[in-house]
Amino acid sequence: MSDLFTEYGEDEDRREGFSDAFTLQREVVPEQVEFDSPTAAASEIKRVARAFGADLVGITRLDPRWLYTEKFSDLSGTARPNDIPMDLDSVIVTAQAMDYELVRTVPSALSGAATGLGYSHDALVVLSLAQYIRNLGYRAIASMNDSALAIPMALSAGLGEYSRLGLLITKEFGPRVRLGKVFTDLPLDFDQPIQFGVKEFCDTCSRCADACPVGAIPTGPPSTERHNESNLKGVKKWSVDGEACFGYWAAQNSDCAICMRVCPYNKDYSRWWARLGQRLAGTPLRGLMLWLDVKLKFGERVKPKDWWARATDQGPSSA
Ligand code: SF4
Ligand code: SF4
Repeated sequence: MSDLFTEYGEDEDRREGFSDAFTLQREVVPEQVEFDSPTAAASEIKRVARAFGADLVGITRLDPRWLYTEKFSDLSGTARPNDIPMDLDSVIVTAQAMDYELVRTVPSALSGAATGLGYSHDALVVLSLAQYIRNLGYRAIASMNDSALAIPMALSAGLGEYSRLGLLITKEFGPRVRLGKVFTDLPLDFDQPIQFGVKEFCDTCSRCADACPVGAIPTGPPSTERHNESNLKGVKKWSVDGEACFGYWAAQNSDCAICMRVCPYNKDYSRWWARLGQRLAGTPLRGLMLWLDVKLKFGERVKPKDWWARATDQGPSSA
């Protein structure tokens, strides 16, 4: 589904959802619906986003530091200025969970389905939400990987904490999420960043860095060091060598998320013991939790043929 949206604008040198924001929307209606307050508007928007299928939703102020200065087209080989208007100063950030069982088969073509499904659900949610806001009489632009860095916006919107592997770690799904965003001029209340012990846990853990086949994840403390021009300047953090990482994807002819699979925060949090484990990982017992995670072989790869065998064992769907 997300590939179809991306191909939709190719005649106009646009790859919507990947390098360009979405344009497949109806016009903004001329009359604006008034809200009692930005708090009431934020509450309605979050409820609607969840009804449209968002697994997580938060809101933050547009921070121009995270907007790309230019968009690059891999179709025409040209760069154009980013066209997100700065007066769309609220950003609604959504997260879609990736399938836990599919991610256990990483790296595999099968696990690519978890990524594709995440993006496809993401496209449905951000397009529906942007149209809802346009129908209320406010401007709204739906966006996925294009236009701006999603992770810093998700951090400001309180969806999770930053980690060594360079991804957002959420309480609900760990690092196993795909992010979307809607830029709007609808006045909304903003959320606050959260902390639940991820930084301290990453200080003691290096499972992602040890498992990365190309050594793209740093093992030391956060720093301002840049691997190459693909890293941000002047931000002290764990920076992944994205060019080494993506080079590995290209060589494999498939995506990779080994770091996501082995991360101790990658759990099925519908299980009570996983929720308890996460709470303990945020305490001085984090060393014990890390030891247990390795001992119990969490994060080990499931072979794709075993995933298919399990699907067969479950028999035909009762739906
Ligand atoms: S996705 Fe794969 S190659 Fe990239 S950082 Fe993670 S483990 Fe390394
Ligand atoms: S594997 Fe360990 S170090 Fe890496 S992000 Fe997860 S918790 Fe942090």
